[in-house]
Amino acid sequence: MSNYDVVIVGGGPIGMACGIAAKKAGLSYVIIEKGCLVNSLYNYPLFMTFFSTSERLEIGGAPFMSLAPKPGRQEAIEYYRRVKQMHDLNIHLFEKVEAVQSAATNGARYTITTSKATYHANNVVIATGFYDFPIYMDVPGEELPKVHHYYKEPHYYAYQKVLVIGANNSAVDAALETWRKGAEVTMVIRQQEIGARVKYWVKPDIENRIAEGSIKAYFQSSIAAVRDKEVDIITPEGIVTIENDHVLAMTGYRPDFTMLERFGVELSADWKRCPVYHPDTMETNLPGVYLAGVVCGGMETHKWFIENSRDHADKIIKHITISSPLQ
Ligand SMILES: Cc1cc2nc3c(=O)[nH]c(=O)nc-3n(C[C@H](O)[C@H](O)[C@H](O)COP(=O)(O)OP(=O)(O)OC[C@H]3O[C@@H](n4cnc5c(N)ncnc54)[C@H](O)[C@@H]3O)c2cc1C
Repeated sequence: MSNYDVVIVGGGPIGMACGIAAKKAGLSYVIIEKGCLVNSLYNYPLFMTFFSTSERLEIGGAPFMSLAPKPGRQEAIEYYRRVKQMHDLNIHLFEKVEAVQSAATNGARYTITTSKATYHANNVVIATGFYDFPIYMDVPGEELPKVHHYYKEPHYYAYQKVLVIGANNSAVDAALETWRKGAEVTMVIRQQEIGARVKYWVKPDIENRIAEGSIKAYFQSSIAAVRDKEVDIITPEGIVTIENDHVLAMTGYRPDFTMLERFGVELSADWKRCPVYHPDTMETNLPGVYLAGVVCGGMETHKWFIENSRDHADKIIKHITISSPLQ
């Protein structure tokens, strides 16, 4: 079958929530995911802990049990896999959506072309997240293999000179984990202090490690260049060059704006590049094309997360069923 009421692009937690809501409403749907199930979570650091408690990560009424109040990546992956099973969700994995075109064929408003097939649907939900595109520093040497924009686990960095760039959760977790496994860690932080959004139980840990000198931090600083064995740091006192083996550039991620524009979704003209949508219905400038989850924030990637975007699913499906009631 290639004709659906709804095609959902992205099999993250929010794309899954949309699938569950569509199924509950009796709509035909398919979720198309370019990687594995909850691909972003799969790519998170192995030992990361969510800032949300487990019940706030729940979708589709399935209880999320975890022994600690805040679950880790492994538990979350396990949970979402069970949710897929419980709701028998129709998900096509390892299939990338390449185009969404307004074309009144097969009695449907949109034609959706993927790496494997063509689909037709009256409604499309874009729930593509932001974790596939790192924000680059644009400095010489950033392309060197020792510069990483994703951090997985600490062992690789043991007994190495590691530079961590950034001051938010990903940077702080990477700095503390690698330092605890024997890395010599230096942080380069643009602001005057550690980010205010750093998990409240982790913030004192990093601040104390910096205060005692275990982790060296350059505040109000940025990177000028990366070389094989060194990095240049622009500090308030001038350029400082330090020895270095690895750079963990935890400089954030951004949605795929090119893809959104190619699909025809309007973006705000300011730096936020926020996709335009109606807050009550999540419908974009294209009738029947909706946004769900963290993609909605544009460059403000901290604005939406699982716990505050789960309800996008119900808003969207309610609007679809009101706009085109089932015959
Ligand atoms: C380290 C880290 C910790 C976090 N901790 C929390 C937390 O504690 N609590 C919380 O609520 N949120 C947290 N978040 C945010 C949360 O994980 C994300 O908000 C969540 O993954 C968002 O779900 P989503 O479904 O909107 O997007 P995603 O989970 O990113 O899903 C988008 C999916 O779309 C797929 N995709 C993209 N383009 C295409 C395409 N063209 N075709 C097909 N598929 C495509 C991607 O592969 C991906 O699987 C955290 C994020 C990070 C990075």
